[in-house]
Amino acid sequence: MKGILSDIAGFFMPRTCHMCGCTLRESERTLCVRCVETLPRSLYHRMPLNPMERRFAGIVPFVRATGHFIYSRNSELAAAIHDMKYRGFPSVGHRLGEIVGEELHMAGFFSGADCVAGVPMHWWKQARRGYNQTDFIARGIAEATGLPVVDALEASRSHKTQTAMTLEQRLANLAGSFRVKDPDALRGKGLVIVDDVCTTGSTLRSLAAEVAAAVPDCQIYLLSLCVTV
Ligand SMILES: [Zn+2]
Repeated sequence: MKGILSDIAGFFMPRTCHMCGCTLRESERTLCVRCVETLPRSLYHRMPLNPMERRFAGIVPFVRATGHFIYSRNSELAAAIHDMKYRGFPSVGHRLGEIVGEELHMAGFFSGADCVAGVPMHWWKQARRGYNQTDFIARGIAEATGLPVVDALEASRSHKTQTAMTLEQRLANLAGSFRVKDPDALRGKGLVIVDDVCTTGSTLRSLAAEVAAAVPDCQIYLLSLCVTV
């Protein structure tokens, strides 16, 4: 019955791949298998001291760090990320989060991790956008790994858009932006902090520094859906 109903729904409103527009099979969600296969993986998690880890080594304490997909301008992935962030398609983030979660879980990346949290967004920005895309990515990762999402971080003030800033300008812009609102939830835990796109690393760096200062025995994992090279 459920199959018939979804067939009827599919007849009136065919489910299509967000990237290539093809009609999705019953087993596919948001993206078709072919598009998922062709997403550019960094495979950083297989490298000792990978380029993401080098961005944070000696600056903030962390257990592991990686960025899963290589982000390049004008790519199909970049268009999907833009839709996820700005055009009301957080489901793309959820699906990409599931893929990242499945692939890194199989590789043992989350060994020792206890919970997942997206980079928090200031309430005013989130109210205007209607959602925080990193929450959707975190939920996808949580579903793929079985790790719970923890609501322990918040953006305590808004900051300017960072696109045209240098790393130093970004760090100054982000100073005091994040706060650990529930330190007890993180004490002695392994926390996976999830971002959407890592360019200079300033966001993850600021947030990880705040977590490390507030909860020194929290083990931090830094995970960005996409990373620029
Ligand atoms: Zn597709």
